[in-house]
Amino acid sequence: MTAPGVVIVGAGQAAAVAAHALRGHGYRGRITMLGRERHKPYERPPLSKAVLVAPEEPGLDVIAQDAWERVDIDLRSSNEAVALDLSAREVRLADGQVLPYEICLIATGGEARTLASAPPGRSHVHYVRTIDDARRLRAALQGKPRIAILGGGFLGLEIASSAMAAGSAVTVIERATSLLDRFLPPEASAWLESGLQQAGARLMLGAALERIDILPEDRMRLSTDVGELEADEIVVAIGLTPNDALARDAGLEVAAGGGVLVDAHCRTSNEHVFACGDCTSQQRPGYETPTRLESWQNANEQARTAAAAMVGATAPAPAVPWFWTDQGRHNIQMLGLPAPGLEYVRRGDPATGKVLWIGHRGGVPLHGVAIDAGADLRAIRPLFEQGKPVLLDEFQQDATDLRAWAKQMRGGVRSTVQPPLKA
Ligand SMILES: Cc1cc2nc3c(=O)[nH]c(=O)nc-3n(C[C@H](O)[C@H](O)[C@H](O)COP(=O)(O)OP(=O)(O)OC[C@H]3O[C@@H](n4cnc5c(N)ncnc54)[C@H](O)[C@@H]3O)c2cc1C
Repeated sequence: MTAPGVVIVGAGQAAAVAAHALRGHGYRGRITMLGRERHKPYERPPLSKAVLVAPEEPGLDVIAQDAWERVDIDLRSSNEAVALDLSAREVRLADGQVLPYEICLIATGGEARTLASAPPGRSHVHYVRTIDDARRLRAALQGKPRIAILGGGFLGLEIASSAMAAGSAVTVIERATSLLDRFLPPEASAWLESGLQQAGARLMLGAALERIDILPEDRMRLSTDVGELEADEIVVAIGLTPNDALARDAGLEVAAGGGVLVDAHCRTSNEHVFACGDCTSQQRPGYETPTRLESWQNANEQARTAAAAMVGATAPAPAVPWFWTDQGRHNIQMLGLPAPGLEYVRRGDPATGKVLWIGHRGGVPLHGVAIDAGADLRAIRPLFEQGKPVLLDEFQQDATDLRAWAKQMRGGVRSTVQPPLKA
């Protein structure tokens, strides 16, 4: 009888990258992958971008077809894991099968948070998490409907830009009074806001949805505490809930804010179970509390880390978190994590072209934000990795050669910022 091998629960980005990495480490045992969806693993970032507007649907494979065949996986699509038995080391499937495992990898991602007044499955209501969701929205956009987007986060705003590009009139309803204020410096948030308005979007900020009424001819009226609007289609983009129920029910530790708790090696509280991707909350070196990241880079990195830990290989050094979003024709990239009380300094002018902000504490770069300046952000990446103070006056001057400056700042400088308390 062959050994049970690795069972991967989930068949998304992290699952595919982990399986590929396991083979890369020379693992020759059985890999079984369970996917709730009917598709093989695909990339989700294009779902709110090219899939909605490109003349042809782009290729979405996480692992190119020929490489995927070499990975040699027993992929069970449309097959959901419903229970995990840690002591018997078994996964129970929805169809009643029971799969034994030597190692289980949980890579279950997350679900779109839902709104009771606009539930998934209702006609003219959209959530965008899967390729089937995106295809349905793309089809709806063909009729150039009036679209109301509930939620002005990265996803909601990407969909707003795509819908406008497809010819729809768009209104974004957002509870906060400024866009993405938890992630962007105020200047970047203001730039985004005016760009969307110039492109024709109506923004209802500081607005709470109160009611949705269905009108004749499938129209809908949305009432908020700051006004009303009519729409033909509604998109709900109000965040993600990590799929951690399987782990929680099995008795694995789950973080207080949700997410399967993992250490720096993606180990869960059970030595035979690992987890990676959107479903996790990770205790990272240098951070006091576990962090939950919902990003492509995090899914890939954790997948490679988990695969290395499973076979006892050296894991890649943890990278500074990186995230990108495409907002209309602009590309925004972020490095590090935003935190309360960061001070931001800017290089460039949002009104005229590429811009870079460094959010710092005492001169130590902690959060970088780039608009159409991804290459510049990459050039200063080592400064985020080293965690030492740098000379930010020089960074802000147009005349400063950024690459030369970054090279000079490698190793850090004495902080020029007075500490708030005397020693
Ligand atoms: C529309 C959209 C746009 C995005 N854009 C960006 C972007 O611009 N930049 C960026 O950095 N990130 C972006 N992301 C986020 C990025 O795609 C995710 O962080 C990444 O897909 C996470 O990978 P994952 O494998 O953890 O989860 P997923 O890719 O969600 O895969 C999890 C899979 O597990 C399956 N599953 C769940 N439970 C079970 C179960 N019990 N049994 C079997 N299968 C199960 C799910 O059905 C799903 O197929 C975007 C995401 C979406 C949805």
